[in-house]
Amino acid sequence: MKPYAATPEQVARFRAERETFALAYRCPDCLHVTLDGRHCILEYPNRTLMSSEAYLEEGGQFVFCKYFEPA
Ligand code: SF4
Repeated sequence: MKPYAATPEQVARFRAERETFALAYRCPDCLHVTLDGRHCILEYPNRTLMSSEAYLEEGGQFVFCKYFEPA
């Protein structure tokens, strides 16, 4: 799969919509996070979704988890 880097306009639009709609999409808000809040019980690598407010990988790609379920 070819990595897709978000444009600055897409990043700005996502951030605005995240605030407007109070989007939950990170591991701390997910049913599948461990009780200590540090790991995914499905054992997915979740560094980006766990460690910061960022939803972008270092290369600028959007990162979401398709197994996210609201807690
Ligand atoms: S299922 Fe996805 S969103 Fe949920 S804790 Fe695991 S990596 Fe995070």
